Amino acid sequence: MRIAKPILGIIGGGQLGSMLASAAKKIDIKTVIVSDDEKAPAKNFCDKFIFTKYNDNNKINEFIQESEFITFEFENIPYEILKKINHKKPVLPHPDINKIVQNRFKEKNFLNKLGIKTTKFSLIEKKRDLLNNENLLPGILKTCTLGYDGKGQYEINSSNELENLNIDFNNKYILEKKITLKKEISIIITRFKNNTFQIYEPIENIHQDQILKNSKIPAQINQLIYEQSVSWAKKISEKLNFIGTLCVEYFIDNNDVLYVNEIAPRVHNSGHLTINAYNISQFENHIRAVCQLDQVELKKISNAEMINILGEEIIKYRDKKFSKNEFFYDYLKETIRNKRKMGHLTILKD
Ligand code: ADP
Ligand code: MG
Repeated sequence: MRIAKPILGIIGGGQLGSMLASAAKKIDIKTVIVSDDEKAPAKNFCDKFIFTKYNDNNKINEFIQESEFITFEFENIPYEILKKINHKKPVLPHPDINKIVQNRFKEKNFLNKLGIKTTKFSLIEKKRDLLNNENLLPGILKTCTLGYDGKGQYEINSSNELENLNIDFNNKYILEKKITLKKEISIIITRFKNNTFQIYEPIENIHQDQILKNSKIPAQINQLIYEQSVSWAKKISEKLNFIGTLCVEYFIDNNDVLYVNEIAPRVHNSGHLTINAYNISQFENHIRAVCQLDQVELKKISNAEMINILGEEIIKYRDKKFSKNEFFYDYLKETIRNKRKMGHLTILKD
């Protein structure tokens, strides 16, 4: 058992950073957050906030010195910067993992090599590659790197549309066969150093315009899909030698076939309901794994539904009265933008 409580350094200051900092506070761990956004919402929740461009060595060194353990809240921090930080103090999960999951092509190849099913896909580097992969239409063209919430994606329904497509081939893409979605689910899993896991039950997710809108437990899925999704999540986190909380997003098609859509090497929006529905949240488990604290057996408290609050919707929520099974989280973002994630509401259910 440790006596002195560690200081956790978190790279990135969005709502995930905020929720990590709040979870840390609950177990008496101090947090220092570094962000390149002066108005990062997490500065309201952490013990110390460092605003800097990530390439400012002095500021980054200050952050490293302040931290005993270091983690990140989003995976798109440039790999070179994570590697540099990791050289001085270990970053968990290991930055090499990001190299795989930051790139959709590498990510899907990694999964397929493990025998895990994904949608059919092909690497697209030039227009001709599109013409050579008409068998993947109707499909979705996705940038290999830096896409999120549907950004950098183009639906292509038929080869007629290829002529008029205006695509910047300075980026690489994958073309992914579109499947008919029956459902989307995710697994949140925390892996600890001694290869033990804390796994939350599958979460059912509804997206609108490619942005997560609702998550709920229990997911309405059959036993086979339940077990397959849990076992794939374990396999993925083990193969990545992952330390901390990871999310695997899945598709289920009309024939009840399960596919992995993508891996988020971090706490995830679909896991926000774990704050209220479990004794230990995805955030606390992440901190416990990264800071090498004791594991606490996971206990579900309640079924639950989480609603993402986007853009202007936040205004009416700020004035709303909530009943005792409703938990409202305001991310305290200064600027409201269309479709921006501004907060969430978790409702505990029977
Ligand atoms: P992002 O990285 O932006 O989250 P995703 O690849 O997860 O991108 O796509 C966002 C959403 O778009 C998915 O959750 C799903 O609803 C829909 N989608 C993506 N790819 C496919 C596909 N191949 N077939 C059907 N729907 C898809
Ligand atoms: Mg996604």
